[in-house]
Formats: sequence, C-alpha cells, structure tokens
Amino acid sequence: MKIVLVEDSNGDREAIRAILEQRRENVFVFQSGHSALKFVQKTPDIDVVIVSQNLEDASGLEICWNCRILAAERKAMYVIAISDYINDAMLVEALDSGADDFLNKPLQEDILLARLRVAERVVMLQRQLVQLASRDSLTNLYNRRAFFEKAQAFMESRPDGHPISAVMFDIDHFKSVNDRFGHDVGDQVIKTVAKIALDEGDFVGRIGGEEFAMIIEGESFRAAACAANRIRESIEQTTILTEDKRVQVTSSFGVARAQSGDDVYTLLKRADLALYQSKDNGRNMVTVERPHAVKTDLVANSYAVR
Ligand code: GH3
Ligand code: MG
Ligand code: MG
Repeated sequence: MKIVLVEDSNGDREAIRAILEQRRENVFVFQSGHSALKFVQKTPDIDVVIVSQNLEDASGLEICWNCRILAAERKAMYVIAISDYINDAMLVEALDSGADDFLNKPLQEDILLARLRVAERVVMLQRQLVQLASRDSLTNLYNRRAFFEKAQAFMESRPDGHPISAVMFDIDHFKSVNDRFGHDVGDQVIKTVAKIALDEGDFVGRIGGEEFAMIIEGESFRAAACAANRIRESIEQTTILTEDKRVQVTSSFGVARAQSGDDVYTLLKRADLALYQSKDNGRNMVTVERPHAVKTDLVANSYAVR
C-alpha cells in the first residue's frame, strides 16, 4: 500500500516507519503537515494517511479534513489519526474532521497492522464503487456524468488560452445496424468504436447510446481535427466479424476548440453543432469549427475534413 506518515516526533516517526517498512509498505514520511498535504493532493493512489494530532504546527485536523475532501472527490483513502493521549472530545473531533480511525501512541505493531488491513479492505471497496460509478460497463470508457465532470475539472485546471479541443462523434445509421444484425452485434460495434477512439487518447467518454466525446489537450486545433479524422478512417476501414456476419459502419464527427470563457457545456455544444453539420452534409466526415469562427454564425463558419 502507499502510506503517508506525518509525524514530527523523531522517536514515534522512526518506530512507525520501521513497522511499515518491515512489511514492505511504500511509505512516504513527512514532518510537516503542510508538505504532506501538498504531496497527498498531487499524488495518485495514496491508500492510507497516518497523521499525528500533536504536530507542532497543529495541522493534524486540517490534514484529516482535506483528505476527506479529496475522498469526496473520489480519491479514495483511509485516514488514521494518532495521538500521545486520547479523550472522548479529541476522538469525536478527529472523526468529525474526517479521520476514519484513531490510535493511541506508542502504536502497537499488531494493532496497527490489523487497522491497515481494515484500511485496505475499505479503500479497495471505495475504489470499486468509484469505478462502477464513473465507467460505462460496455466499453469501460467514462460514462456521461464522469466525462462531463472530468472535462470540466480539467478545463478549470488549465490556464485561459491553453489549447483544448473537444471532439463529438456518433455512429451513422446505427439503428439499422441493430435492426439488421441484432442488439448484440450493435453492442460489439460500440465496443469496437470505443477501442479505436482509445488509440488516439484516453480522455474519451460514451455520453449516449452510440455517441462519444473526447478531449484533446495541448495539440493545435488542426492536430485535433486530424486525430478525429484518423478515428473516422479507422472506423470506416474496420470490419466487425461476428459468428456469421461482417459488419461495417461509418461515423460522423464535430470538433470545436475551447475559447476564453468556455465551460465544458458550451464547448461540447459547439462540437455537437459541428457534428450535426457532418450528419446533414452526408455523414462519415469530420466538421471542424473554423478557428476564430464568429460564434453567432457557427454553421456558416465551419468546414469539413474528409
Ligand atoms: P444517425 O446516422 O442520424 O446517427 O442515425 P442513427 O440510426 O444512429 O440514429 P440514432 O442516434 O437516433 O440511433 C441510435 C440508436 O442506438 C437507437 C438505440 O436503439 C441504439 N442504442 C442506444 N444504446 C445502445 C446500446 O447500448 N446497444 C445497442 N446495440 N444499441 C443502442
Ligand atoms: Mg447515430
Ligand atoms: Mg445518436
């Protein structure tokens, strides 16, 4: 497990570190609460935070609280508060501040290890729940809610003007695939399209039945349009083989670039408008919103790549 230990008493810190390292746990040790918190915020997959409530800078409760906020944002972790002394008021305060557990120092090895086994079980279950809640079960892509949430958080984390493009795409005449070949084959087609999209980047969501969205970061708008076109070509060139059928589909794309003041909804709305232009103009094409397009006349300012 990845364990962060925050303890500024040398004796306690080394004693706990020794127990954990002997168990070959991956331990990150901090004396300062604030440096530990920064580390936890930027490091993925921390399983457990063991934090002293007797830190000189009194940041123990603050760390519990901030870890709880991270856990609420689906970054599952288990927080164990530790202290030289314990009374009911301290216990209540630590648990209410976000700790999952409270142990008295000096820590007894067998008790600490038992509590870590509990932590492992709880964190594993939390991660499974996050996975179930954010992934589409057919394709394992982000589901609609998770995609919008992640894309919005991503856009907010980047400075204004940072190159971000959104791609929306939809399988053409998919109803007739279901009608001709059956729903199971339709599902196979959706899975295949998802796999092809993942070859171009992993920020992809299935946001409707046979409708997908993708965020492309750090590339020029033209590069994003080319990535969309590669997905289009690859879908067109792929034959889906089932027991006795060969199925081929095409798909239509819309690409839009984030502009100052955009949120994920306005950006994807513009990509969707471009996608509908692809549908109107005959399908199996990529329509891009032309750079510097006048927003009020979007359709007239877009052009197709094929
Ligand atoms: P267009 O070219 O205009 O996109 O035509 P279309 O037939 O693809 O149109 P539409 O988007 O209306 O049809 C989508 C169909 O996708 C309708 C629905 O029955 C089917 N569908 C939605 N979710 C699933 C799924 O999970 N599996 C399968 N097999 N079909 C699905
Ligand atoms: Mg469709
Ligand atoms: Mg559709």
